[in-house]
Amino acid sequence: MKFASEFRDPVAARALLSAIARKVDEIGATRARPVHIMEICGGHTHSIFRYGLDKLIHEGIEFIHGPGCPVCVLPMARVDECVEIAERPGVIFTTFGDAMRVPGHRKSLLQAKSTGADIRMVYSPLDALELARRNPGREVVFFGLGFETTTPSTALSIQQAAREGLTNFSVFCNHITVPEPIKALLDDPDMCLDGFIGPGHVSMVIGIHPYDFIARDYGKPIVVAGFEPTDLLQSVLMVVTQIAEGRAAIENQYARVVPEHGNPVSLAAIADVYERRASFEWRGLGEIDASGLRIRSRYAAFDAEEKFGIGYAAGSRNVPEVEGCACGAVMTGKLKPTGCPQFGKGCTPDLPLGALMVSSEGACAAYWQYAGARVAAE
Ligand code: SF4
Repeated sequence: MKFASEFRDPVAARALLSAIARKVDEIGATRARPVHIMEICGGHTHSIFRYGLDKLIHEGIEFIHGPGCPVCVLPMARVDECVEIAERPGVIFTTFGDAMRVPGHRKSLLQAKSTGADIRMVYSPLDALELARRNPGREVVFFGLGFETTTPSTALSIQQAAREGLTNFSVFCNHITVPEPIKALLDDPDMCLDGFIGPGHVSMVIGIHPYDFIARDYGKPIVVAGFEPTDLLQSVLMVVTQIAEGRAAIENQYARVVPEHGNPVSLAAIADVYERRASFEWRGLGEIDASGLRIRSRYAAFDAEEKFGIGYAAGSRNVPEVEGCACGAVMTGKLKPTGCPQFGKGCTPDLPLGALMVSSEGACAAYWQYAGARVAAE
């Protein structure tokens, strides 16, 4: 496979593993005193398990799985609000498939669909826009969810709806941003992180400089990485090399895709359509300042919060997690998925208890899909 197989080359992977081992030995890290590297993005977590990198790499490296899965960090109250909108008469509620099975306090979107709500899976906000054109007598709501990767496409659909003068299309905006939760994790006195693997797709939009503060203010290395196995191994090598040399910088391993200053068209669409919320609730992390986006007043006609009277007020609707669910601890790296008493018992991909088992990017789903038997035996 051109442009993929080159990044899965076993000879190159072995050479990188050896180079990492030499650096880890130089630092003096061991299994008992490992270097903690957080991969922020759920896509990276999946690649690590898919290719068995956690087992192949020197035991002095410990991967901590970060909060970079937008479905996983969606607070339960927002799922409840989705259901609330979807169950209103005349509404067609549209969403990406991943969000359908995320448990709400009352029910998931899938359960709401089974009891009669008109909820449809779409692949893009443009599909929702098309539904609105074809159903002028219905209110079509798109569940805007995700980090900076998906934020621009939602913005473009709102701009297009405005150009066309559509009056039956709106977005329930739950878009969130990556740098702010990293800052929250770094400010957490219980966290001990030595470096970061930065998200590739998000950085394609925002560039690498929004992470400058990690090196400048906290003295931690961060390397923006691609998703193939040699991408990840090279990125780990770049992180441990910085540690061995006693420096901290933002570096870009994924330069073939990530421009230093991001994508100007996407950034312009984001700036036009959204503004920052004062704070937003993250499942497992609580309220984080300036970490969520809302639709600007100039596009209020396309804002489902305005249209359906569902405002977001910090802490006003916080709903406790299901008893026994350890998603918060897993997402902050304090617990491995297998450390959750529900893993493989009360919580499986068929019957998920927490969002980390539902989403294809969740750490628990990654453990289960690629290493379920192995970790269960361990
Ligand atoms: S096993 Fe299930 S309940 Fe436990 S942390 Fe993972 S998703 Fe949450």
